[in-house]
Amino acid sequence: MCKFFRRIVSAAVLLLVSMLVSLPQGNVEAASKSAVHELNYFKSYETKVEGQDAFRIEIGMDRDNLDYQVIVKNYVHKQLVLDMKNTKPGKLKKEIKLNNSIAKRLTISELERHHTQVAIDLGKVISEENYNVHVEKADHKAGKPYRLVVDIFAEPRMAGENFKGVKGRTIVLDPGHGGSDSGAVGPTGLAEKTATLAVSKKVKSMLESSGARVVMTRDRDVDVYGPNASDRQELQARVNVGEYTPGADIFVSIHCNAFSNPAAKGMETYYYPGSARGERLATYIYDELLKDGGLAGRGVRTANFYVIKHSSMPATLLELAFITNPREESLLGDDKYQTTLAKAIVRGISRYFGE
Ligand SMILES: [Zn+2]
Repeated sequence: MCKFFRRIVSAAVLLLVSMLVSLPQGNVEAASKSAVHELNYFKSYETKVEGQDAFRIEIGMDRDNLDYQVIVKNYVHKQLVLDMKNTKPGKLKKEIKLNNSIAKRLTISELERHHTQVAIDLGKVISEENYNVHVEKADHKAGKPYRLVVDIFAEPRMAGENFKGVKGRTIVLDPGHGGSDSGAVGPTGLAEKTATLAVSKKVKSMLESSGARVVMTRDRDVDVYGPNASDRQELQARVNVGEYTPGADIFVSIHCNAFSNPAAKGMETYYYPGSARGERLATYIYDELLKDGGLAGRGVRTANFYVIKHSSMPATLLELAFITNPREESLLGDDKYQTTLAKAIVRGISRYFGE
């Protein structure tokens, strides 16, 4: 074969191969086009799932193999959104009132042709421990089609890990800042008070599910003393929560760090100088945060911070990350990362009591 001819043949082969490669793709598209789901079934009711109170929403369609994605919209809308490709709204009403303490209403919208979203208005922030979405096959006896089942739980589920040593202990958690005091604010606007409360709430439910008693200095976005307090009054009010809690074993104050240079990064824990038990607590939590949190370790340090100085019980103050660092701010606002941090803190506390 001459060189020129060979080139033509190889070009033809290349063309043929590329046609063959593109062929199945075209087929898949054609097949999926013919399998458009239609939302034709709806049911909602209160139920128990593994012993926990849940509000269940069932959205049904006429065929299976739904391609869906769950999106949590916490910041503006406070919604749980089900994003469904190859789906059109069908017979269901565009807006369904749910009239429930967990979920307010549901809206169905077709973003573009055969791309539908179901948005469930929750009225409050949701985390991954608060919901579960799965599909169920058609149950013809019960008159139920193939459907998407959404369970939303009143209380976060912290199944799984049992943290040894914390059972029967009383732990005071102090989510830093709150109310009129935002604490530090990250480059995209995440407030320290928001991140510290989110992590503290997760720590609380993990500790409680392992049998600990948890007292929070605040469980909402409020000042502990009041909006017009001096710094000292506010901090003493937090210390008092621990001091006035009978049998309180430890005091854990949760904060985020801040610095003028956005490159500053990492995590550190503090104890009051001379407190051997405070040092042990700060060290265990530090070790676990370093292991699981994956941030640069800045060390276990001493400081005269008010809340650790004036607590009579072993106390530690945690700086989880730099909220002024763009990467760390986004981690601090991320629900999964908050869970990772909370688990690490609880593991540290568990080691403190276990050893
Ligand atoms: Zn702080």
